[in-house]
Amino acid sequence: MQAFVIDAFSFCQQEEQQSGTMLIADLPRLSKECASTAGALSWSLAGSKDKLGHPQLMLTVAGSVQLMCQRCLTPFAFEIDSESILILARSEDNADEIEALLADDEVDVVVGSKAFKVVDLIEDEMLLAIPQSPKHAVCPDEQSGAAVDAEASKKESPFAVLKKINGRT
Ligand SMILES: [Zn+2]
Repeated sequence: MQAFVIDAFSFCQQEEQQSGTMLIADLPRLSKECASTAGALSWSLAGSKDKLGHPQLMLTVAGSVQLMCQRCLTPFAFEIDSESILILARSEDNADEIEALLADDEVDVVVGSKAFKVVDLIEDEMLLAIPQSPKHAVCPDEQSGAAVDAEASKKESPFAVLKKINGRT
């Protein structure tokens, strides 16, 4: 596992770039959310400055993770293609100041350090990228006849019936 650590401020100042792949099995917090720990993510990290001169990291992560559908309880592949901009602050207080200054929801402010764990950063981004309650767009059993039959035999809710009555008058 690449447990690599960067000096985040000098990484930005020198406009360095790094990229690599990471096994999902090596990310314990992400693994917990996944139906399977097979697979890998590719990532890249680039340092630069924002227009106000704050050190900034651009992180991209792409890959596919297996999530458990909360509706039919079968695993499915969820494609991740995330790109985030992270401004580095020197402290929590500094992070609050920068956040207030930028007032931009698209930009995250994180506290940087000279021993900044890139793995943790990637894992945090992944946890934000996956849905809290993952579901198929269309569950496989809905495509077969089973779900249609279940739908037909399901009693109409009183509200649906009311709606119909109101709609008629
Ligand atoms: Zn499903």
